[in-house]
Amino acid sequence: MERIVEVEKFSEESCFESSLRPSSWDEYIGQEKVKKLLKTFIEAAKKRGESLDHILFFGPPGLGKTTLANIIAHQMQASIKVTAAPMIEKSGDLAAILTNLEEGDILFIDEIHRLSPAIEEILYPAMEDFRLDIIIGSGPAAQTIQIDLPRFTLIGATTRAGMLSSPLRDRFGMHFRLEFYTPNELGAIITNAAAKLGKGIEKSAALEIARRSRGTPRIALRLLKRVRDFSDVANEDTISHAKALEALEALGVDEQGFDELDLKLLRLLAEAKGRPLGLGTIAAALSEDEGTIEDVIEPFLLANGYIERTARGRVATPKTYELLKLTPKIQKSLL
Ligand code: ADP
Repeated sequence: MERIVEVEKFSEESCFESSLRPSSWDEYIGQEKVKKLLKTFIEAAKKRGESLDHILFFGPPGLGKTTLANIIAHQMQASIKVTAAPMIEKSGDLAAILTNLEEGDILFIDEIHRLSPAIEEILYPAMEDFRLDIIIGSGPAAQTIQIDLPRFTLIGATTRAGMLSSPLRDRFGMHFRLEFYTPNELGAIITNAAAKLGKGIEKSAALEIARRSRGTPRIALRLLKRVRDFSDVANEDTISHAKALEALEALGVDEQGFDELDLKLLRLLAEAKGRPLGLGTIAAALSEDEGTIEDVIEPFLLANGYIERTARGRVATPKTYELLKLTPKIQKSLL
């Protein structure tokens, strides 16, 4: 099933995203605490003429981790090499990336929790001592060759902090958790993005889209793109509130921004009537893999009090029952 949050890398969708990606602090809305700390650390490193300490970002997809890495590189006047853990399969892949870095470069590794243990082992001395240990041969005749690396900054991004091994986590000098955005923040992101696309948008229309974007800029931009289509077809210069509402309804995005999968999960929990359900059971019932449920579906529902996590599994909250009762069809199935 297509999900609003699923944007394939390098697709037309991601080209659209990168054209709207902020390149300065002013354009990067929200995450004030993270921004304030990063600005201080960047200024300090620049004053000392040093490279930045390694940085780890964690938080659900689409909250701005890659964007932050790019802004940091821009601020440090450094070049950035972007890769993702699944692309680093063999030790040679990582060795090639590391030996091609230059002094002060930033290496961004997305989905860093997916690195294999063997690759992690190579990363430890590289992060700590800027040294690459290459083992040649095997058994008693094996030899280790050491190569000095330039001082670089590793920025890791992960949707699952819990899956990162602690030796790897500990080697990052700074850890930042990104939070979901408020509707006002998303409204500002939508208005700025619309302006970049040469389109005006009524404040109430931007807020309407924002409220339905699950606290996530990537979803907000995607919805904006679709709403803009409706507005263009109607020859509007400025996206009106009425057009935004019409488009969102046509797209089937409800008032909380919940899609079919969210509602399926909430219904499943509500129908369990307080009996905690394990991740495996939920995944099987929804025909989704556990990772998608944990990384993509659950975080927003948890953060907004629609799900509670207990030692024995997930349960629905009073807010869930209240929400589901709002829909007559669902109410019927609950009776
Ligand atoms: P992540 O790496 O966490 O999955 P991205 O950095 O790729 O998320 O962000 C997705 C899109 O959302 C980006 O292309 C960017 O345009 C937009 N975006 C993310 N965070 C912000 C922000 N704080 N302000 C403005 N736009 C943002």
